[in-house]
Amino acid sequence: CGILGIVGKTEVSARLVEGLKRLEYRGYDSSGIALLDQGDLKRVRAEGKIKKLEDVLENNQVEGACGIAHTRWATHGMPNETNAHPHIAGRVCVVHNGIIENYAEIRDGLSGKPIIESETDTEIVAHLVNENLEQGMSPVEAFGRSLKKFRGAYALGLIIDGNENQLFCARAGSPLAIGIGEGEMFIGSDAIALEQLTQKLVYLEEGDWAVLTPDGYKIFDEKDQEVSRPITHLQDNF
Ligand code: GLU
Repeated sequence: CGILGIVGKTEVSARLVEGLKRLEYRGYDSSGIALLDQGDLKRVRAEGKIKKLEDVLENNQVEGACGIAHTRWATHGMPNETNAHPHIAGRVCVVHNGIIENYAEIRDGLSGKPIIESETDTEIVAHLVNENLEQGMSPVEAFGRSLKKFRGAYALGLIIDGNENQLFCARAGSPLAIGIGEGEMFIGSDAIALEQLTQKLVYLEEGDWAVLTPDGYKIFDEKDQEVSRPITHLQDNF
């Protein structure tokens, strides 16, 4: 339902949780956050209000300079902690809005027959990217190639353990924007999620995907050609 992500150089988890609160207006049934912390991938999820996520975080602090967060509105699988995003497979961690229609087909085609932990259509995204990594692809190639397999309407945010300087995202039928910071970059499912973090947004167009680092971003179209998209300055709209 709502996506937020930050790749930077300092601790980002507090701002991710703050950002989730700004996404509450969209409605949701559970929430979660994952951070890359010096070679460790850490995740906390909770059913119900963001307040419950904050309560869990009080006793399980997660920190890191790269992370993703999500508010879920269940389409596939019960609203519970196991089905809450982010979802993890191997080194890959993902948040997703929308529906991957052919998830069962992708699941059945995975070579390693991995254990699927949740009932969601989302988890398969992490498994497919992880399988591509295990086959020797670079993170950028593993993500870009996976996108060609998904059918449906989705926005994705994805991070990879051991790869703390890159945040991946994609848009197909579900909106997603990049936020430009100084020494940090953001992704968000809408301007409301991002407006406290930056005034400079770049909206992905249909089929676009992107790789963000703390100091920049590259956007590719559905044919994997690098493209440039206009920068929107939020304050101009007020
Ligand atoms: N289809 C996914 C799920 O049920 C994502 C739902 C959403 O957009 O929050 O987990």
